[in-house]
Amino acid sequence: MDLFQKCRQFSRAKEIIDAGVFPYFQVIEENHGPVVRMEGREVIMAGSNDYLGLSQHPEVIEASVKAVESFGSSCSGSRYLNGTSILHTSLEKELADFLGVEACLAFTTGYLTNQGVIPTLVQKGEYLISDKENHASIVTGAWIARARGAHVLRYKTNDMTALEDILKSVPPDAPKLIVTDGVFSMSGRIVNLPGLVKLAKAYGARVMIDEAHAMGVLGRGGRGTCSHFGLRNGPDVELTMGTFSKSFASLGGFIAGERRVIDYIKYNSQAFIFSASMAPGNVAAVRASLAIIRREPERIERLRRIADEIREGLKNQGFKLMEGGTPILPVIIGDDMMTFRFWRRLLEEGVFVNAVVSPAVPQGLQLIRLSLIATYEQKHIDGILGAFHKVGKEFDLIE
Ligand code: PMP
Repeated sequence: MDLFQKCRQFSRAKEIIDAGVFPYFQVIEENHGPVVRMEGREVIMAGSNDYLGLSQHPEVIEASVKAVESFGSSCSGSRYLNGTSILHTSLEKELADFLGVEACLAFTTGYLTNQGVIPTLVQKGEYLISDKENHASIVTGAWIARARGAHVLRYKTNDMTALEDILKSVPPDAPKLIVTDGVFSMSGRIVNLPGLVKLAKAYGARVMIDEAHAMGVLGRGGRGTCSHFGLRNGPDVELTMGTFSKSFASLGGFIAGERRVIDYIKYNSQAFIFSASMAPGNVAAVRASLAIIRREPERIERLRRIADEIREGLKNQGFKLMEGGTPILPVIIGDDMMTFRFWRRLLEEGVFVNAVVSPAVPQGLQLIRLSLIATYEQKHIDGILGAFHKVGKEFDLIE
């Protein structure tokens, strides 16, 4: 059989494309912050991870342009060799300082960070204990660790009884890492970190948290899930992972924690050593975003208020939302095709959101996911609520 036969037979997307409701790879023609241009029309963006709206901030853009002028468009190599600039080392110091930990290491993307850190730390005969809803990049890291002889065990999402059952089953002296998302990206739910840290301490496990959707969103000045719960990065949660593609308005990822551990990753992680380093413009954008986040923590408060207003507005209209407490709002629709049609009608009404269907969520929990932006004005909030009200009635989802 020909290797390409499966590709030629692949037709999963065709039915939805033919129905004119395909919600993915939607082309953005222009981006002006919370409003973008799609299909020749202005649309409110409620499906991006630019939580603080900093990708449009003049200081971030200027920093990025200046870095390209000074350092060029690419670092043209690995951090190990020619790809470490003063921009990279400065960013790593600034982030470690922001989180109050000893050291930080920047990877080329968030995905590569999880893929690179997990198998470097969890080796043959050691244990990785992972939440079932963790991001795909953690799953990839776990696959590599397992292929190299580590034990990988998964527990029902955010279920501390299930986690404890696993911890009990592992030899007490075995080295072990618990890894979890801080905010689960599909549901917007926040992890029960106090419960998890207590179990980790009781059973001698280390903890790694993926703060992709929590940095710049939760906690004091946007320091993430640890801070949200009054816990400390370092003593309570030994390893903090994050991405620069969301609140930091750029591209890249990082791991932060104890210097000796971060150095070990630096000298041993394949994904770190054998991939070109973050481009100068990207590093500079993160540094500028971090400076703004530190200087203007009120942006985080504003995002919280916007999320509360839209969440309450949708609930009052009669929509069913998963409980979360973050700017990710999952509105349950409950059927694949209906979710796609709902998505399309919202776009026609001037709002872009994300359609999430099985297998990303279980059958019956297909949803429309909103990810909100701190730079919305009242007209954008009203526009989102107005569109949902109109389309919700058309679909008989609300009265
Ligand atoms: N972890 C989580 C929880 C994410 O949501 C994402 C991005 N979708 C990543 C990691 C990967 O980050 P990046 O986009 O920087 O590769």
